[in-house]
Amino acid sequence: MKTIGILGGMSWESTLEYYRLLNQGIRAALGGQHSARIALYSVDFAQIEQLQHEGHWEATAEILAHAAQGIQAAGADFLLIATNTMHKVADQVQAQIDIPVLHIADATADSLEQQGIRTAGLLGTRFTMEQDFYRKRLEQRGIQVLVPDAQERALVHEVIYNELCQGIIEPASRARYQAVISGLAARGAEGVILGCTEIPLLLRQQDTPVPLFDTTAIHARSAVARALG
Ligand code: GLU
Repeated sequence: MKTIGILGGMSWESTLEYYRLLNQGIRAALGGQHSARIALYSVDFAQIEQLQHEGHWEATAEILAHAAQGIQAAGADFLLIATNTMHKVADQVQAQIDIPVLHIADATADSLEQQGIRTAGLLGTRFTMEQDFYRKRLEQRGIQVLVPDAQERALVHEVIYNELCQGIIEPASRARYQAVISGLAARGAEGVILGCTEIPLLLRQQDTPVPLFDTTAIHARSAVARALG
């Protein structure tokens, strides 16, 4: 079994889910007392979040690259950056390490392809929904990406940072997200990507008839397959 590197803490609410899903995946595959070999580095999210909102992405890249080097030194065979948003600096992180970064958008595109989805809605932080680094990666795989309108994007973004990353789960926010998802489906989305690793804490498949793509679970599943491959 290979050792899975996790660059986490963004936020730790979702890193916990990764930890659980990776261990459950290894147990399901190998049985008994088997558990995942993991090297985890968890950052202080306050610093990262402030730099993001100030637009200082180079500084975030330096922090993450340094952390990734530590994970490599700890023996990881490959790396998960356990957040969609910080894949904005995935190339800079990759340039500083020798082990491969298992890109969350690639794993998501694989999953969309397997389900035959050609047009997908995307929920995530403003950075993920509005900038190129994530959408382009999907579009290069032939997937058309729809994002909510500006007001809805602001709502989705605020709920992520002010609630989900702080462990706050509000039924009213779930209802708002359900409405945003229905709107995307009405515009032609055949499925919706939960493109922020905390959104599955708020909303699950049973909360909507629209097929959901939970990037935390998808990323963890692909890591389990790679660890055992
Ligand atoms: N975990 C979130 C994501 O998947 C947002 C937190 C962050 O900004 O990294 O995008």
